[in-house]
Amino acid sequence: MRVGVPAEHSEAERRVALTPDGVRTLIGHGHTVVVERGAGHRAGFDDHAFADSGAEVAPRAGSLDADVVVGVTGDAPDLTEGAQGRLHIALFDPLWDPRAAVALAEAGADVMALELVPRTTQAQNMDVLSSMATVAGYEAVVLAARRLPRLFPMLMTAAGTVPPARVLVLGAGVAGLQAIATARRLGAVVSGYDMRPAAAEQIASVGARVVEITEDTTDVEGDSGYAREQTGEDNRRRRELLAPHVAGVDVLVTTAAIPGRPSPLLVTTDMVTAMSTGSVIVDLAAARGGNCEPTVADAEVVEGGVNVLGPTRLESQAATTASRMLSTNLVNLLGHLAPDGGLRLDPADPIVEAMLVATGGSVVDEQVAAAAAEPPRSR
Ligand code: NAD
Repeated sequence: MRVGVPAEHSEAERRVALTPDGVRTLIGHGHTVVVERGAGHRAGFDDHAFADSGAEVAPRAGSLDADVVVGVTGDAPDLTEGAQGRLHIALFDPLWDPRAAVALAEAGADVMALELVPRTTQAQNMDVLSSMATVAGYEAVVLAARRLPRLFPMLMTAAGTVPPARVLVLGAGVAGLQAIATARRLGAVVSGYDMRPAAAEQIASVGARVVEITEDTTDVEGDSGYAREQTGEDNRRRRELLAPHVAGVDVLVTTAAIPGRPSPLLVTTDMVTAMSTGSVIVDLAAARGGNCEPTVADAEVVEGGVNVLGPTRLESQAATTASRMLSTNLVNLLGHLAPDGGLRLDPADPIVEAMLVATGGSVVDEQVAAAAAEPPRSR
């Protein structure tokens, strides 16, 4: 199997889909890997490292002349050229914006979306979502610590006792739990909230106090383990009960998300302005509207003296680590798709079934087809 790694086309994207270690493993399994010149530079992997690992380092056209093209993102316009019969694997975000995946399908490519990885034990080592959420959760806290005009840990000094910063994390999936763990390591006093009852034990296990509010949790979780979208009234009540907890912290990190849906609004502008001046919010849900009313994606706004940050590509800040994790996940996925060297997309395989968006020129994922029928949303 010939695996191609084109460079990411966006300047803001620093990750690369395969690292030299990943290339070495694939070559060990009998595959050929072609990497576009410069593809790994921004992630800290130069062309020599790729060549040493056994990759062919080639101009872009060479990296697209492959059986499988892997990418971090998959929306570069030229990917559709000559795509007939090729498999494209990337973070296509097809439930939110299916245009890139549909364009490839129309060009005759097979498309697999990394976001659709099933959250099962079998697919755990291919779970790019968890990998990227881990990096984003860590980076969110580091960013908040940098912006906050106070230290995180409690210090006993000759100049008096410095009180610890108070951090609240709303949404305790993979990113939220990593944010809690990171804030704890920096010495903050941390609390966490998630509407899924199962999250309470996980919040406590990473060292945070669990914020418990009186709410009906009978319909908050779907079969897949993901949260279910809540009604406007449910979220309004949740905001009311969360308000005093938000007002009492110096740093708020929000991560609440529903796959393919707008982010739930958990924090209103009034709740933000009730925080003390100089407080910091990092809204990891910014790409889909954010959990906080004042959030603007990829911008920093000041609301009542509180800094509200809406970074959408924090994973790129730790491009080396993020690329290593992504690459390992992809190597495991490719090993699953081509166990004997040749690529085989068995539609009955649960991982293929979950992740396959398009094959044979058509979109085969019903949710993606439904999203494609709606008016386009911005990325
Ligand atoms: P996510 O990014 O989809 O959402 C983040 C968190 O937001 C979730 O914990 C969710 O409950 C919470 N949330 C959503 N709406 C909310 C609201 N209105 N109010 C409060 N909180 C809200 O989550 P994720 O990190 O991708 O994890 C999703 C699920 O998958 C979790 O249950 C996680 O434990 C599970 N998971 C399983 C595996 C595996 O078994 N291999 C791997 C990773 C994650």
